[in-house]
Amino acid sequence: MKTTIKAYGAADSKADLKPMDIERRTCGDDDVKIDITYCGVCHSDIHTVRNDWKNSKYPVVPGHEIIGRVTKVGKNVTKFRKDDLVGVGCMVDSCQQCSACKEDLEQFCEKGMVGTYNGRDVHLGGHTFGGYSTAVVVNKEFVLRIPENIDPKGAAPLLCAGITTWSPLRAWKVKKGDKVGVIGLGGLGHMGVKFANALGAHVVMITTSPDKAKDAKALGAHEVLISKNAEDMKAHRNSFDFILNTIPVGHEMDPYIGLLKRDATMVLVGAVEPLKPFHGGGLIGGRKRIAGSLIGGIKETQEMLDFCGEHNIVSDIEVIDMKDINDAYERIIDADVKYRFVIDMASLKN
Ligand SMILES: [Zn+2]
Ligand SMILES: [Zn+2]
Repeated sequence: MKTTIKAYGAADSKADLKPMDIERRTCGDDDVKIDITYCGVCHSDIHTVRNDWKNSKYPVVPGHEIIGRVTKVGKNVTKFRKDDLVGVGCMVDSCQQCSACKEDLEQFCEKGMVGTYNGRDVHLGGHTFGGYSTAVVVNKEFVLRIPENIDPKGAAPLLCAGITTWSPLRAWKVKKGDKVGVIGLGGLGHMGVKFANALGAHVVMITTSPDKAKDAKALGAHEVLISKNAEDMKAHRNSFDFILNTIPVGHEMDPYIGLLKRDATMVLVGAVEPLKPFHGGGLIGGRKRIAGSLIGGIKETQEMLDFCGEHNIVSDIEVIDMKDINDAYERIIDADVKYRFVIDMASLKN
């Protein structure tokens, strides 16, 4: 009950990604079979390929920003039809029973959500393989509808970078007129700026590099705050209603805590690693909060995609061929991409 397809993956933590064959389950009654046209490249792909989080299972076939067309649906599938434009993000299964799943927060499934790659494959055994491949079979509950009016290439990163930044903006109810800071201008930060702008906030890009100011404004930032400039940081003290922190590594927290208004929250979405110690007084004096957020549930991801359709929002991307993926990884590590690579999967099929 399996078919063999073409993919690109890494045999171990030191290996380059290379062509390989993998197996997909045949389309079951609750499944949607998708012919993959584009797949975004997320920094988590690199962490998993290189076993940075010490939990990688090999071979690793990364990719959790999948766009494609439906080629087949199982008999229990009513929401999707052949040829629909669809997406698959970071999850492909969850228990569907626990309190998190029942509240549309599958990313926090108490039994553990199944990652699109490097997750435990509940159908075939072994582990899951992601979107650096020609096709995927996914349970209907984890398939998303992509609005036909937006560019499908640019839509790919919405499935991870998009929902990662959208979900906290919604959970903390960012609204028109709020002063919102977005720290870091990369794959996540550039989406944070676009969404906060579209929600009507006054958006301030907070960055270490003055040369990013022009780009940040083009993306929708109203102001740019250079975090190395002590005077500017002082001028913005205690003024932010909300801060979205996309810095991907451990960093000093105190300067950013100082920017928050009384009762305001800074949400971390980037650094999955130890942070530098910070002073409790910074939080206590102002009842300030630091929180975290992980992607978003399926219902909320669909809401984000529909919003993108209405507001014509996609990611800024650079399209690459599959064979160029190893070079692309080096460029991501050097922060040399505006702002997301997307693989044209036709380059793997041919
Ligand atoms: Zn990702
Ligand atoms: Zn669950």
